[in-house]
Amino acid sequence: MKRRIVEVLKENKGEFISGQALSEELDVSRTSISNYMKILKEEGYKIESISRKGHKLISSPNILTREELVEYLDTDYIGRKIYYHESLESTNNLAKDLAKSSEKEGEVVIAEEQTQGRGRLGRNWTSPKGNGIWMSIVVKPRIEPIEASKVTQITAASVYSALSEMNIETSIKWPNDIILNDKKICGILTEMGSEMMQISYMVVGIGINVNLELEDIPKDLRKKATSLKIEKDKDFNRKELVAKILNEFEYFYDLLVNENDISEAIKICREKSILIGKKVRVIERNNEFERTAIDLTEKGELIVKDDNGNTSVLISGEVSVRGKHGYV
Ligand code: ADP
Repeated sequence: MKRRIVEVLKENKGEFISGQALSEELDVSRTSISNYMKILKEEGYKIESISRKGHKLISSPNILTREELVEYLDTDYIGRKIYYHESLESTNNLAKDLAKSSEKEGEVVIAEEQTQGRGRLGRNWTSPKGNGIWMSIVVKPRIEPIEASKVTQITAASVYSALSEMNIETSIKWPNDIILNDKKICGILTEMGSEMMQISYMVVGIGINVNLELEDIPKDLRKKATSLKIEKDKDFNRKELVAKILNEFEYFYDLLVNENDISEAIKICREKSILIGKKVRVIERNNEFERTAIDLTEKGELIVKDDNGNTSVLISGEVSVRGKHGYV
């Protein structure tokens, strides 16, 4: 109901619409309409309410609720249900709880800040309030655990494509980062629960530094992290970006689960790779060595070559890859 009220208010933006008209159009009582108006005002909608004239929408808040995303969203099931929170420890944690408690997939968790955002291998993910996109998507692909990294690759392709649609050209740093001007603007953290042969659920965490200011990024991270705003010197529409990522994600995910086809996503990850053709340092748990990145396999693994020309394949999750002298 809230969504329909927002829709009607938006259709009549800048004009008054009477409580009576709203209640007739939406088939609910006028008391219920005024209760919803109260809730919307609390959420940050600027609505002028005058008796006998009705309600006029002045402006919508900069929040990532379903009501605010819906005009950009074009999906059948990804993001049809959005859990939006001011603050969470980690969107992946809530997404995991949701995944375990229902059969469904496609739910999306979004928070304005994460107090314990995570990167891979227990690393920390800085997620300050209000200007980023910190979200997680729940999916239940019928694939084997060893194929899980495919989901990370289609997510990287989705984020790349969504940014590209907004005229922001980025690169992909295999396996899970999106890079702008040699610094990280987005990280992807895919986690899963599985049985021996089949994944029970996956949560795909996506963190994007959208309108963060330099002060929002801790000093020790500034060499390798940046935001869209810092690089482009303007604000970006977070609602549009979230929706575009979900649209792209559904497209690539459908191809994966229905046709076992990730070729289009891998093509993007390969063409936009910032590592291919470069010397990289591969960091394993107890080991560090230098290789040249030469290609991605069809499954999205990184092929590297040593100085003697011997090739090997790196599987995501096991290694961190760095540029020879710095982050890329
Ligand atoms: P890596 O990119 O180092 O392989 P992860 O993908 O797990 O590792 O990302 C976690 C790392 O990203 C952290 O250790 C930190 O260096 C960096 N980081 C943390 N928060 C942010 C952020 N908001 N933007 C960019 N980088 C971040």
